[in-house]
Amino acid sequence: MTLKIGIAGAGFSGAVIANELAKAGHKITVYEPRNHVAGNCYSSRDVDSKIMLHHFGPHIFHTDKAHVWNYVCQLGQFMPFTNRVKARTQGQIYSLPINLHTINQFFNAQMSPIEAKNFIANQADSRIKEPKNFEDQAKKMIGESLYQAFFKDYTIKQWGRSPDSLPASILKRLPVRFNYDDNYFSHPFQGMPLEGYTPLIEKLLAHPNIQVKLNSTFSAAMKSNYDHVFFSGPLDAYFDYQLGRLPYRTLDFVKETHQGDYQGNAVINYCDNSQAYTRISEHKHFTPWEEHASTVIFKEYSREATPDDTPYYPVRLSDDNALLERYIALAKQQENITFVGRLGTYRYLDMDVTIDEALTVSKCFQESIISKQTMPAFIEQ
Ligand code: UDP
Repeated sequence: MTLKIGIAGAGFSGAVIANELAKAGHKITVYEPRNHVAGNCYSSRDVDSKIMLHHFGPHIFHTDKAHVWNYVCQLGQFMPFTNRVKARTQGQIYSLPINLHTINQFFNAQMSPIEAKNFIANQADSRIKEPKNFEDQAKKMIGESLYQAFFKDYTIKQWGRSPDSLPASILKRLPVRFNYDDNYFSHPFQGMPLEGYTPLIEKLLAHPNIQVKLNSTFSAAMKSNYDHVFFSGPLDAYFDYQLGRLPYRTLDFVKETHQGDYQGNAVINYCDNSQAYTRISEHKHFTPWEEHASTVIFKEYSREATPDDTPYYPVRLSDDNALLERYIALAKQQENITFVGRLGTYRYLDMDVTIDEALTVSKCFQESIISKQTMPAFIEQ
């Protein structure tokens, strides 16, 4: 059975679903409000320096899912890349994520793994059994002084909220290691696409059954033109903000061009309040196989998104998500529409999870046609 499918958004969510359903024989129209595909993964070469730029912030592909790694590798060549982040705080430069080197530098010690483990266990607040928020999680995991140095101010800059109102899950993204492994991610698969992310998305969308409309915003009124819609735009935007606006953080990137090597690393975080920006990324270090005489850096500032801003990070709180719950309830009453991706489901998602979920959603949709079941508004992942 060939169905008419509308998809809002040409990021990874929309493009993966478009590709899967086009291969299954459906006719797909993808609506993308911007003048380019690839969503926030959009990358292109700087006109002057020819350095590959990640225009919406650094994107490093990493996953623990072999099928997702295989999936992206058949879209384009990936080069080996390991993200090794440095942190500036309290007048020093440290290794991140917190590892044995960070701990020994910070406490001016020469501890072995087991000594450091015991030392940090003593620092940690053992009264916290079930961390209910970011601050509790940090104090339980690493104790007060490391929390103050590396997480407190950065998190307030990044989220504009007190860490005790943010969910513990935000911090659980980062490991703490008692060895000298300074790989920012713990996943077995990590890499950078040779020619950036945009060609991967273009490849997914290059199918005769897919029509892409750039500079086109999908609105709820257009749903009746389709048998089913997959919506990866902001959940509250679909409902024309009728219940109010969900909070998002947006980012301002201040670009500078220099000669040579600016900071010697792809990402340096500014964990204390000595600078208003959260981090500086130097994009030529994301392609260490390329040579460039000049260099482009971005200072990254986070702030609350206003209606005119690009929404980046959905702000879920640790104890009050009432507005989100009302939008989710509203969405569940809709028919023939499924909300997907970071903005559609209002979750802090990495690229690999987005792709995995888009593959699952596509499979569920195909199964729902065969079994004549209703496709739900959200696929519980
Ligand atoms: N974080 C921090 N200090 C750092 C790095 C991260 O406090 O140096 C906190 C901050 O709250 C951030 C979260 O940990 O939002 C997750 O960090 P990650 O590097 O995964 O953020 P992303 O790259 O997705 O912005």
